[in-house]
Amino acid sequence: MSTATRNPTRAVAIGGLAIGGGNPIAVQSMCAVATRDAKACAAQVNQLSAAGAGLVRIAVDSKADAAALSEIRARTEGANLAVDLQENYRIAAACAPLVDKLRYNPGHLYHHQRGRAWRDKVKFLADIAGENDCALRIGVNGGSVDPALREQFPAGDKVAPMVASALAHCAALDDAGFTRYCVSLKDSDPAKVVDANRRFAGQRPEVPLHLGVTEAGLPPHGVIKTRIAFEQLIGRGIGDTIRVSLTLPNARKHEEVEAGRAILDDIKNNRVRSVVRFNPGGLNIISCPSCARVENESFVELAEKVRALAARAKNHAVTIAVMGCRVNGPGETDEADLGLWCGPRFVNLKRGEKKIGAFGYDEILPRLKKELDAMIEAG
Ligand code: SF4
Repeated sequence: MSTATRNPTRAVAIGGLAIGGGNPIAVQSMCAVATRDAKACAAQVNQLSAAGAGLVRIAVDSKADAAALSEIRARTEGANLAVDLQENYRIAAACAPLVDKLRYNPGHLYHHQRGRAWRDKVKFLADIAGENDCALRIGVNGGSVDPALREQFPAGDKVAPMVASALAHCAALDDAGFTRYCVSLKDSDPAKVVDANRRFAGQRPEVPLHLGVTEAGLPPHGVIKTRIAFEQLIGRGIGDTIRVSLTLPNARKHEEVEAGRAILDDIKNNRVRSVVRFNPGGLNIISCPSCARVENESFVELAEKVRALAARAKNHAVTIAVMGCRVNGPGETDEADLGLWCGPRFVNLKRGEKKIGAFGYDEILPRLKKELDAMIEAG
C-alpha cells in the first residue's frame, strides 16, 4: 500500500503545534494520574512530551481538577496541553486560560443543564475557546453517542449516528463562526473507526481528524488493533493527529507515544500489514487506557488479570470489556459479551446490556470465570 496524498485539511493551531494543512501527523497521549495531584500529573506530562508527544491531554471534571492546571502549566514548560471534558462542559471556562485545546464529547453534553439546547452549549464552548486562544476537538465515541440522536438510526448501525453527531457539531461550530477545531470518531472496533472516519472525511475533507481506536487495550493487541485502523486511514490520506490508547501502568504510559511514532514510521516506509481483520472468530479484550477518572488504582492490574483468566476462551468469539470508571464504563460495555466497569470499591459485571451485579475486587475474577465458563460451555 503506498501512502495516498493527504486530505486538504485546514491547519489548526494548538499552542506551539499545528495539525492539518499538510503539517506532520502529530502523536499525542493522555495522562492517567489524578489531575488534582498537580506535581505527579505534570511529571507525567513531561514524561509523555519527552517521548515525543506533540500534545498531552488531561482529564478535568471538577473545580479541584481545574485549580490544579495552573501548577501543571507552570511545571510543564513547552508542552502543549489539552483538557478532556465529559459531562461537566462548563468547567471549560476555568480551564481555557491555562491550556491550548478543549476536547468535548458531544454524547455527554446532555447530562448537565438538560433544559439548555445543545447548540447553546456548543456556542458557549466556542466562545470560551475563542476568547482564550484555544482550539476545540469534537470527540465522538461510538459508546457514548447522545441517546436522542442514536435512536434516530437503526439499532444495529453504530457508525451512522457517530458521523451524524460529528457533522451536526461541525455545523454548530461553523454557525458560531468558530473554525479552529478538529474532529475524532473513535470506537473500540478498528473496522468501525475506519468506516466512520472515511464517511466523515468524504463529507468534510477540510476538517482535520484526530485518529484513535478507543479502549484498544493491553499491548501488544492494543497496538495491533490501532495499527490496522491507522494503516487503512493514513494510507488513504486521512488523519492529522493520532493517539494510541493503551492500558498501561503509569510508569510505562510513554509506550503509547512510542507505538504511535513506530506506526507512522512504518506507514511512511510501506511496512504495513493491514489486509487482515482483527481476530474475528476469537477472543477480543477491550480495555480503556485509564485516565484521572479511574475509580480504583488497581484497574490496570485487573485488566491484566482478566486477560490472563480469559486465555481459556482464546478460540471462542467472546468480547470482554474492562473499563476504569462510571463515565464511559456503562456505555462502552454494552456491546461486549461480558463487561466490567470499575467503581471505587466494587466492579460492575454485565452480560451485554444486562447487569449481573457488583462484586468486590477480590470477588470479581472468580465470578467472571463462572460466567465465561458458562459461555464457553454454551459454545
Ligand atoms: S473509561 Fe473512565 S477511566 Fe477509562 S479512560 Fe475512559 S474516562 Fe478514563
